[in-house]
Amino acid sequence: MKRVLLAQIMHETNTFSILPTNEEAYRRRYLVRGAPILTQFKDTATELGGFIDAASEYGWEPLPAIAANATPSGKVTGPTWEMLKGAVLDALRENAPIDGVCLAMHGAMVTETEDDAEGALLAELRAALGPDVPIALTLDLHANVSDRMAENADFIIAYHTYPHIDQYERGRDAARLVDDVMHGRIRSTCTVARPPALDGCNHGRTQSGPMAELEAMARRFEQEDGIHVVSVQCGFGWSDVAFTGPAVAVSHDPAKAERARAILQDMIAYIWKTRADTTVRYLPLDEAMAEAKAGKPGDKPLVIADSTDNPGGGGYADTTNLLRAMIEAGIDNAAFCSIVDPEAVAKGRAAGIGATITVDLGGHTDPHFGPPIACEGVVRHLSGGDFVHDGPMWAGVAISMGPTMVLGIGGIDVIVCTNRMQTTDLQAFLSQGIDPRTRNVVAVKSSHHFRAAFEPISRKVIVADSGSLCSPVYTRFTYEKIRRPVWPLDDLPEDTPLARV
Ligand SMILES: [Zn+2]
Repeated sequence: MKRVLLAQIMHETNTFSILPTNEEAYRRRYLVRGAPILTQFKDTATELGGFIDAASEYGWEPLPAIAANATPSGKVTGPTWEMLKGAVLDALRENAPIDGVCLAMHGAMVTETEDDAEGALLAELRAALGPDVPIALTLDLHANVSDRMAENADFIIAYHTYPHIDQYERGRDAARLVDDVMHGRIRSTCTVARPPALDGCNHGRTQSGPMAELEAMARRFEQEDGIHVVSVQCGFGWSDVAFTGPAVAVSHDPAKAERARAILQDMIAYIWKTRADTTVRYLPLDEAMAEAKAGKPGDKPLVIADSTDNPGGGGYADTTNLLRAMIEAGIDNAAFCSIVDPEAVAKGRAAGIGATITVDLGGHTDPHFGPPIACEGVVRHLSGGDFVHDGPMWAGVAISMGPTMVLGIGGIDVIVCTNRMQTTDLQAFLSQGIDPRTRNVVAVKSSHHFRAAFEPISRKVIVADSGSLCSPVYTRFTYEKIRRPVWPLDDLPEDTPLARV
């Protein structure tokens, strides 16, 4: 019976965020160790769900170490990183000998002590396991892939979709490939390349545009003998580390190194050529409000993404510019998810349902992104904020917004909560007594993931620029560690040499 270590440590670190990521931040989302992982994540639409089903199908002895996820935020603190990494390395020692490793990570995790957390953990695993034990690493497609990750993993496998609805399937891929190596059916090594770009690939949107074409190219190359995985990562630009940006990783038979390099050249050239192509326009707030007022009674909702305050990219989830614009525009029959403001929730709980309260709502983390909104509202609903996802992304995974209130401000029902959380699932509203399908306007703190659940119920989706931390205008940030020159911060000639592969 093959003994396979399973672990998940996720974090997308926005190094420009002032919010440190500590153990409490993980506990607010989830932090599970050991055997309970096998029951908690079975039948979930996650990489772990895929690992767990594969383990039973292949007859492995699964050795679950840790499952940890925190909403994107600032750097992971030193002690928290030691705790997370230690859980994997302890499990490795306690369960030796190990035949294989399935590891799910985001790929853009930065800690106070480590710019390349994934690479650091992989290097320690490789040193402990030696060269022959297969290690498969699944990644978010917004990963920044370092050379060290490629040097120490047999396989790098990013999601194919954004919204990320194929996490389970990529977990299955990782497990299948580890099983193939453990039984001597294949061998693998990994090669990575990146263009001199901080951003690109249409920020990873896979419905159409450059990323859709890159994924199609990858699937074609994967048909070739000895090319096991072609993994496309669009990168995560709000991370000031040397290797930030789009990258392609090819996991291949060691005998196919030359072919892998040719594939990388083709794909990197395509990324470079299309670096500025985008399928999405960020609307200024006045244009967004004009759209919001254009609906007729009985229409399906207009869905507005407060994209630049997307907690899924490290946004503070309490910036107020979009909500203020909606209040000032007198938008009616609307719902907004969410504004993080624990003090306002406490005030609402003290007053009770039906009470009118006065609050200074949101805008507390960094008032540069909009000051608090001084307003009156009616407390419409109070709860602990727990729900289980039932949409296309993270189905089956339980989450908590923490103590939560619905505050009616004019015609807008605002979900005010405690935990920062991207709005990706209808249950965020339904669990609070709001049916978003009956509203004229629905605003969500999300950049793109919301589309999987909300596009089908909408008359139209628009993306607003409220000027917050996840702005697509990278020149608004001061980079110190990124390699230079790099597009779009520097003016690079079209014939710039593309990749060292
Ligand atoms: Zn992502």
